[in-house]
Amino acid sequence: MKCFPYTPRKTQLKIADTVEKALSSRQHVLIDSPTGSGKTVAVLVPCVEYAVRTGKKILYLTKTNTQQQQVYKELKKIREKIEFTAMGIQGRANLCVLFKDFENANSEELAKLCRDRKKSTMKHTGTVKECNEIYLIDEDNSKILELSEGCPYFANLLSLNEEFEDYFLHNVCDITDVLAFADKHHICPYEFIKAHLRYADIIVAPYAYFFVKPIRKALLTWWNTTIENLVVILDEAHNLQDYCRELESASLSLYTVHAAMHEVEECNNPVLGNFISARDFLISIEHMVEECVKEFVKDDEDSFVPPDYLETYLLSNLKTDSTHLNAVIMDLLQAGEIYSEKKRMEGKLPRSYMRAVSNFLVAWFSIGGTEYTKIVSGGENPEIVAFCLDATIAALPLCSVHAGIHMSGTLSPLDEYRDSLGLDKNRTVFLELPSPFAPENLQIVYETTVTTRYEEIYAFPEIFDLIEHEIVRICNSIQRNIIVFFPSFKILQIFVNRGIENRIDKDVYVEAQGMNSIEMGKIIENFRDCSRPKVMLAVIGGRLSEGIDFPDKQLELIVIVGIPYPKPSARQKALQFYYDMKFRKGWEYAVQAPAARKMRQAIGRLIRNENDRGMAIILDKRAKQFSEYLENLNQTDDVIADIKRFFGD
Ligand code: SF4
Repeated sequence: MKCFPYTPRKTQLKIADTVEKALSSRQHVLIDSPTGSGKTVAVLVPCVEYAVRTGKKILYLTKTNTQQQQVYKELKKIREKIEFTAMGIQGRANLCVLFKDFENANSEELAKLCRDRKKSTMKHTGTVKECNEIYLIDEDNSKILELSEGCPYFANLLSLNEEFEDYFLHNVCDITDVLAFADKHHICPYEFIKAHLRYADIIVAPYAYFFVKPIRKALLTWWNTTIENLVVILDEAHNLQDYCRELESASLSLYTVHAAMHEVEECNNPVLGNFISARDFLISIEHMVEECVKEFVKDDEDSFVPPDYLETYLLSNLKTDSTHLNAVIMDLLQAGEIYSEKKRMEGKLPRSYMRAVSNFLVAWFSIGGTEYTKIVSGGENPEIVAFCLDATIAALPLCSVHAGIHMSGTLSPLDEYRDSLGLDKNRTVFLELPSPFAPENLQIVYETTVTTRYEEIYAFPEIFDLIEHEIVRICNSIQRNIIVFFPSFKILQIFVNRGIENRIDKDVYVEAQGMNSIEMGKIIENFRDCSRPKVMLAVIGGRLSEGIDFPDKQLELIVIVGIPYPKPSARQKALQFYYDMKFRKGWEYAVQAPAARKMRQAIGRLIRNENDRGMAIILDKRAKQFSEYLENLNQTDDVIADIKRFFGD
């Protein structure tokens, strides 16, 4: 491995070696290695070398756009040792300059608008030299006056000097670089990237570029390659199963039905299937959702819906048969298409809620079999959902790639990950690595005096007094930054209502449900300020327990209140049943595995580098069952003494 930009650590060499073997034997490798272990570079080095040697293409997938930064940083370092081309891509929703005011537009809607503008640009320009017929630039070359047709950013791209292209074709072309370049030359960054993808050895992209079929197809065409020629790297892959299940699920909310009703009025309430007006049909759908909530939803939890409930309701309510109902749905679809086409012609967002309602109905009626469950949920915006239980449906393309590298600091249990995604046992290898940092820097203990087990809380409500007493005792025992993670907003609120904040001797911040990113950013900023110690009350599995770093003194102790088993909702019960049927491992795969990952994610906030020290306390006697997943987990008989000993306070 000649291209390591730094002297590799032992664990990095182990990762690189395993990846190298997996590449040449066309395998999937599942890597569980803690944050800070340097796995990104250790995976990239053998992949880059392999791509350069064999002509295979590397697709590096990240869940969020912000995760891409670390990848570019490592690629730039590796490129000092070996020649290759890498580019990043994101969706039009992030990169389109012309329609940046359409904040909620999805990629399909923007693609339609963009197609029109490009067509018009080509028509007006004829040849690239004449593109100034449709746009003007101020004398200082900085301001573009847009005309109503065409896209000036696309026109400018067509006339781009090839010297500029050359720069990007011999570099790691990170999204920030492209945006700066595009801004300077008034070109479209999205189309610029698209036009140059075919030269890339490596592409860094969001998950959708692989798992959403039309987007994957487009990417492979622009890249001029095939799925069999790809090596796919999946970063932060521990939630991939959830992502895949969501991708294949379909839902209809009352908000969508009401928005479709507004559209119907705008297009003169068309007649559907020759016997019912669009308004009356949508009123039936609205009543059906409301009835469904009334009949099945208790205590605001979601609930199962009999598979044929919707069809039976509509057929009896409309006094018709399946053939006519089908015709009604198809006519609604057509009305939606006409409506969105009209919007498109007006240069507006080509969105139609009528189309969304009919697409949902088609999906709902066609979905059957054990891979799906049908549920309804209440609340402010009730919805019915055909929930996909089987992540292998969306993950199927993974079986066709040349090789796959799946990694995360919390990927274990690896057998659950492999089976949930349907990866071939004979083609999949596991690599679990311990933390590269001194083990004495992290201490994990659990208390046996308390639990949030439902049956015990129900039988002994005074457990809440005990838990509150323990949280307050722990928080007041040291002068350091502490996060207390509760299993849900509901339980967090119980403690807030009891006035726990007033009993803690530090400034207390509370993560509120539905907090927007600005509010969240503000409390994080205040919490991070270490001038005096603070306590944050948050929810495990939420934004504070994943993806946000608190290095050094910003966070030194976390308290996990109860085991974060998934809420026993209808979809959770269905998932457990499905895994029982499929693998005989319903509890292990659907309940225990996600709880273990959530705890490991939260504990992972404590140690981000070799200088960090931290302690995690789990307030639940059931923690013992997780010793397999939590390194060095010990029972504590005197938690305050243990805290004092660990911190030397
Ligand atoms: S060419 Fe680019 S800037 Fe113009 S509409 Fe399309 S995506 Fe937007």
